[in-house]
Amino acid sequence: MPTPYTPIGPVTAERIPATIRRVKVPFVDLATQYAAIRGEVLPAMEEVLESAAFVLGPHVAAFEQHFAAYIGARYCVGVESGTAALKLALAGLGIGPGDEVVLPANTYIASALAISAVGATPLPVDVDDAYGLDPNAFEAAITPRTKAVMPVHLYGQAVPMRPILDVAERYGLRVVEDACQAHGAKIDGRRAGAIGDAGCFSFYPGKNLGAYGDGGAIVTNDERLYERLLLERDFGQKKKYEHLIKGDNCRLDAIQAAVLDVKLRYLDEWNERRRDHAALYDALLAIAGFETPKNRNAEGHVYHLYVTQVRDRDRVRDELASRGIATGIHYPVPIHLQPAYADLGILPGRFPVTETAARRILSLPMYPELEANQIRHVVDTLREVAEPALRLRASVA
Ligand SMILES: *Cc1c(COP(=O)(O)O)cnc(C)c1O
Repeated sequence: MPTPYTPIGPVTAERIPATIRRVKVPFVDLATQYAAIRGEVLPAMEEVLESAAFVLGPHVAAFEQHFAAYIGARYCVGVESGTAALKLALAGLGIGPGDEVVLPANTYIASALAISAVGATPLPVDVDDAYGLDPNAFEAAITPRTKAVMPVHLYGQAVPMRPILDVAERYGLRVVEDACQAHGAKIDGRRAGAIGDAGCFSFYPGKNLGAYGDGGAIVTNDERLYERLLLERDFGQKKKYEHLIKGDNCRLDAIQAAVLDVKLRYLDEWNERRRDHAALYDALLAIAGFETPKNRNAEGHVYHLYVTQVRDRDRVRDELASRGIATGIHYPVPIHLQPAYADLGILPGRFPVTETAARRILSLPMYPELEANQIRHVVDTLREVAEPALRLRASVA
């Protein structure tokens, strides 16, 4: 139980030292990261430019090999984005029109869009108190048309996969992990993405492992799927002009692969720093009586996002912004309440945990280069402008 925060007196702007009052805290800070690795990134990019192999080629192959080894999967296929990774994985596993895929209602829209893009229907279900796919809700949603499940390792925390794999096995469903926010996350000693039939990653710049543009990858241990994915991403060809299937063009480019290969070497260190920051947030927020995110396994969480909950969230967010603190909401509108998914016909109130969270969640600044004084400043300011909202049970909407 967090100790309630006891104020030592009114916290007014005048009481805050000028040096701290000026602290600006961005949500992420990619420029500072670039400054630190510039000396390695630029030569790596130049090597690609000089090689003139811009799409796929040896730099992409090298990164794929390194990333597969890092995640602990046999194969990796680099693609143009996380969304493309999800689409290809689903299509490669034979998911298509008439099929249903279960996914959590609290996720980024791309998880659902990928399912729709292959012609299947997303079946959103409620999440548990750690924002992950609830295995009971998953099982309850299964119909004869359900062919796959897409657990999302949201915010950098791997979903416990054992119960999900058990249900999937019993019903003969495919498992496509959306690990787009979970580069390096672990559960039960394995890395997110290497556990299901396929694991999908995004290398969008702000992700824990981010390119300088779009990028993505699929990892798998399934050789047949791997061969299929190689065709899918490159016009259905293995040999030039020999098109075995009606494939797509969604390849990873070599400059991004070269950047990613440099950054991959820092990923563990960066994730470690994120965990340190989360521990400091946890301690300070608990003292102040604020919600701290439920951490299922301290070692395995890579804190892509640090998400608390507050009352009157939108006002709090504006006040933080006016004091120079950038925050995010991941995500303000659950999948089933998005206009694009009105056709699912799911009414508000159906997924109380997700819907309550959507009104209260607030993502605080989180990136490796964040400093302790910035974290203290964020929590001090939050104490000034917000009331704690301890996590609500589903019944207390
Ligand atoms: C970022 C993200 C995606 C999509 O990745 P892109 O590379 O932007 O296409 C999919 N799912 C989740 C959970 C994400 O965070």
